[in-house]
Amino acid sequence: MKNRLLLSIVVPAFNEAEVLPEFQRRLFAVVDALPLDCEIIYVNDGSSDGTASLLRAMRTRDDRIAILELSRNFGKELAMTAGIDHARGDAVVVIDADLQDPPELIPELLRHWQDGYDVVYAQRSQRDGETWFKKLSAALFYRLIGRLANITIPRDTGDFRLLSRRAVEALGRLREQHRFMKGLFAWIGYPQKAVYYRRDPRFAGRSKWNYWKLWNFALEGITSFTTAPLKIATYAGMTTAAFAFLFGMYVITKTLLFGNDVAGYPSLMTVILFLGGIQLAALGVIGEYLARMFDEAKGRPLYLVTEYQPSRPAMRPRLATRTHGVRRVGA
Ligand code: UDP
Ligand code: MG
Repeated sequence: MKNRLLLSIVVPAFNEAEVLPEFQRRLFAVVDALPLDCEIIYVNDGSSDGTASLLRAMRTRDDRIAILELSRNFGKELAMTAGIDHARGDAVVVIDADLQDPPELIPELLRHWQDGYDVVYAQRSQRDGETWFKKLSAALFYRLIGRLANITIPRDTGDFRLLSRRAVEALGRLREQHRFMKGLFAWIGYPQKAVYYRRDPRFAGRSKWNYWKLWNFALEGITSFTTAPLKIATYAGMTTAAFAFLFGMYVITKTLLFGNDVAGYPSLMTVILFLGGIQLAALGVIGEYLARMFDEAKGRPLYLVTEYQPSRPAMRPRLATRTHGVRRVGA
């Protein structure tokens, strides 16, 4: 058989039994028409519904499916990392199982990869089925991180994207515990290209995100890619100190000139509360960074694998592994 390029499709799945059959149907309809070999790596991220048995059943029917069982729920970022680590393909696509990322876009991602792009990411042109608050907070977050961090993270972009082999290798070298994937994808650089699509609402099941998780996600993004908040804390401290000094001079002068009539309780309270607040906030900011250093210092593995059942296309000996697309950009 002719040795064709291999495409790995990584699908993190956490309690997705409801959607998987439909996802699989739509994905295979796309994959069957592709001019390359494909493997689909399902990462079972510690699901507690029927996802595991469903995947096993799917794999017995089609040997292009690989199953990577994690030892517990590690969260999407790590599930994705695990899948990408195990992918053998010349290109790797990461896609959600809930059909919010249309598999039908994969051929277009591939086209740009063949034009020489290393990262081809899908950018939402419209968000359906989401509240105005989520849209607004997402917009604010992207603007903020674009300002603070010195890497440009494309807006309205999820994790749905294609990575070339060399982008995968590069990503494999970033082993930090706190994985803000959108930031990591942007950090590696290389020619990147956006492809526009309409993001559908979830096909079935519930999103595992809530606002508290989203807030922590935003914190993660900011603290992994910029130390600006530490600087802000410093400047806020310096500014308040300067004001406090001026105010002190004013109080002293006033007392010297006009004596003291034991007023001043309100101003005293204001100053104490204000300074206390600033100090706590600054400590909190330092704490966020310290906690992350603590996590990194432990040097734990990112995830643990219970079992890996590889796909057959990935086990076939391959002639040459391409590290890049077919043509160069702009060549
Ligand atoms: N996911 C995962 N581990 C988790 C949470 C989610 O692997 O702990 C997977 C989930 O199965 C889905 C994808 O990540 O394939 C996106 O999850 P979700 O739809 O909940 O996120 P949203 O689309 O709301 O951002
Ligand atoms: Mg989703």
